[in-house]
Amino acid sequence: MSEFSLIYHYFKHATPRHANTMIGIGDDCAISLIPPNHALVSCVDTLVSGRHFVHHTPAHAIAYKSVAVNLSDLAAMGATPYAILVGLSLPKNMANDAFCRDFAQGLSDICNQFGIELIGGDTTRSAILTISVTALGFIAPKQAITRTGANVGDVICVSGNIGSASYALAAKLQGRTSPLQSALDYPKPQIKLGQTLIGYASAMIDISDGLGQDLKHILTASGVGARLNLENIPSDPNLHTLSHQQKWQHQLNGGDDYELCLTISKENLAKFNQQNPNQIFAIGEITAGNQLALFYDGNQIDFGIKGWQHF
Ligand code: ADP
Ligand code: MG
Repeated sequence: MSEFSLIYHYFKHATPRHANTMIGIGDDCAISLIPPNHALVSCVDTLVSGRHFVHHTPAHAIAYKSVAVNLSDLAAMGATPYAILVGLSLPKNMANDAFCRDFAQGLSDICNQFGIELIGGDTTRSAILTISVTALGFIAPKQAITRTGANVGDVICVSGNIGSASYALAAKLQGRTSPLQSALDYPKPQIKLGQTLIGYASAMIDISDGLGQDLKHILTASGVGARLNLENIPSDPNLHTLSHQQKWQHQLNGGDDYELCLTISKENLAKFNQQNPNQIFAIGEITAGNQLALFYDGNQIDFGIKGWQHF
């Protein structure tokens, strides 16, 4: 089979059909219906072998994560995911049955989990495996949660443990297997929580490049500052044995968490917690100015925020 028919064979029926798709894989373009009174939400993220995942990462995990990171962006706006398109640049030695089957299975698993359809894509040959996923979703326009809405006095929250993926990556690069490997390979996009936060959160972002750097994106976009209480940032017990510096390095600068970071008024936080207990965790407060101040047990500390640098 040619490369193209291989992919067609494995991808065409890999994911569930979605009621809004009029034409999916197989024609020049896909055609989709947008639900009445909704807007289209779209994003794209590209993963390059050796840069966004280590060589020899299983094809299943690569496919799964390429989609998950995009769904995480949709989650960060409160959107409902609908479909993906996949641009696949494949080295010749990977255009084989085993790779395409496992890759398709990874796509299938995450798309089934969230009820989304693979509606198209493009396939080319390239020296380095590169996957570019475009994700589409829907939202009622006024409901979208952007980065710009944080207000002085809002509480800063995260949706779960921070630093696990960075811990796993460090272990992997040192040649150790770690109990947190799945946090690195199989991030869990917080789709449902993102939707639940509509009407509550004032600003939101997903944590891909490190909590410190991603929170700063909210601060810059909203024109505010923040105080973080580092002892309140949730972490997996595996991080409890690390020194403070090591732990903060994973939590503030590590990235690949794909948890949500959001701001919410104290009133809304109380209401939200009453209806949705134990889903978001307060880690700080929005302040006037434009600085990110870090505190540990009430004492201000000096720690360099340097998230993932793309260039
Ligand atoms: P064209 O040359 O018109 O761009 P292609 O031959 O590239 O069309 O693709 C044919 C069909 O297969 C299209 O519907 C396209 O969306 C789909 N397709 C190609 N590559 C992929 C892929 N990696 N994932 C999903 N669909 C794909
Ligand atoms: Mg094409």
